[in-house]
Amino acid sequence: MKNNQVWYRSTRGDREIVTASMAIMRGLAPDGGLYVPDHLPRFPMSMRDYTQMTYQELARHVMGLLLTDFSERELNACVTAAYDEKFDTEAIAPIMCADGSYYLELWHGATMAFKDMALSILPYLMTCAVHRNKEDKEIVILTATSGDTGKAALAGFADVPGTRIIVFYPKHGVSPIQERQMVTQAGKNVHVIGVEGNFDDAQTGVKALFTDEALIRRMEEGGFRFSSANSINIGRLVPQIVYYVYAYAQLLKEGEIGSSYAVNICVPTGNFGNILAAYYAERMGLPVHKLICASNSNKVLFDFFRTGVYDKNREFILTDSPSMDILISSNLERLIYHIAQDDSDKDAALMKRLVREGRYEISAEMREGLKLFTGGFATEEECAKEIRDVFEETGYLMDTHTAVGSAVHRKYREETGDDTATIIASTASAYKFSRAVLNAVEGRPMRASAGSDDDFKLAAKLSHLTETPVPAPFEALKGAPVLHDTVCKIDEMKDQVTRILGL
Ligand SMILES: *Cc1c(COP(=O)(O)O)cnc(C)c1O
Repeated sequence: MKNNQVWYRSTRGDREIVTASMAIMRGLAPDGGLYVPDHLPRFPMSMRDYTQMTYQELARHVMGLLLTDFSERELNACVTAAYDEKFDTEAIAPIMCADGSYYLELWHGATMAFKDMALSILPYLMTCAVHRNKEDKEIVILTATSGDTGKAALAGFADVPGTRIIVFYPKHGVSPIQERQMVTQAGKNVHVIGVEGNFDDAQTGVKALFTDEALIRRMEEGGFRFSSANSINIGRLVPQIVYYVYAYAQLLKEGEIGSSYAVNICVPTGNFGNILAAYYAERMGLPVHKLICASNSNKVLFDFFRTGVYDKNREFILTDSPSMDILISSNLERLIYHIAQDDSDKDAALMKRLVREGRYEISAEMREGLKLFTGGFATEEECAKEIRDVFEETGYLMDTHTAVGSAVHRKYREETGDDTATIIASTASAYKFSRAVLNAVEGRPMRASAGSDDDFKLAAKLSHLTETPVPAPFEALKGAPVLHDTVCKIDEMKDQVTRILGL
């Protein structure tokens, strides 16, 4: 073990501290809380130094600061295996300037969404963690997805020895391409199940299985242990810190900003994982002026930042940014814990209230800790207009999720006059949401049906119209056979798991 060891404890009880590898292997703490670092180390070098590093070098460096019980050799192997030709650009996460903003493109991996940034490496981290902790049980990755995590996790864990993966997705809450990506996934150890419910139902169902003591006992007897590929796993969050530092270093290198200039970062948000990684980066020393949390019409986070009240008692709206259709943002719990001065009792009490009443209010003192953040939201019409306007003016094409970030940032700039250089997280390829994007570009509402064309025809049209290439992973879906067609009710999720594992 190195000096400056970082330990992990649960947001709901800090009696037990564990290593990073143990936290990754478990996914969720036994008390149902999320693992958080006991402190955030400062970056030991200047941002100027980081301009000299490749994505892989920076990933090794930044992840090494937080995953302190992994050896350098292990991290090196994980990074090298993860960030390779699976990405269609050497930059891994290129940054594009359009209309005065910087779009950090996080979708150049195998599944065309930002989840690849962390899920390309998580299986390798998990395998190391299993060895390190001499775990002899088979790891069962249990995951709920709002569309993109599912495919990225399936692709990452397919045929990884010593693991199985079970993905639950909302049967009517993902895009056709997202569903197709999942149900065509090959691999001896992969299972994909549609759930009759929304993402929150699936996520709550999965969390309940994680803390179901009778089930866990049966699993142990059968030689299994649960873990998670959702952003509740700290092994998802740590790799996401890297690209914010990388983006800053790129802007510095290209002379777009000066040394120690504080940027804004705007993140289209659902489960609050991506923006939490930006918050951790800031706490580690990345110069940030504002973190802009962008929501779609499910604007529970916007209301929270405005009022200090988190209230999920509202209608769940299906939008054209389905990966952000979430009313229970799991990772907000980590922020709540930190702004309560790492007080797990306070956090546990608020989370209990969330389960019981569907709402909680934070204290004025805790609200002080939110000063770095500002919230915004964009309607479906605003997103469609954003896609169209930016495309017409600059030729830059964005997907429906990135459009939420972009539209929110535009409104923020107009309302506040804050014209700080802003990095907008671009979280998916436009081709993943071809129908909605094509409709937007052609001036129709995103939901309008574009005739009877299938998604491949739509992608070809989008490609022709915008003169951008259809990504290779999209083409590969054509003709891929459907391998998974199970659908279950919310209260049947446990039965599905025991059936799959033969318990
Ligand atoms: C998952 C996802 C988001 C939301 O990210 P969180 O970390 O859940 O806040 C936004 N856009 C896309 C395309 C996604 O897949």
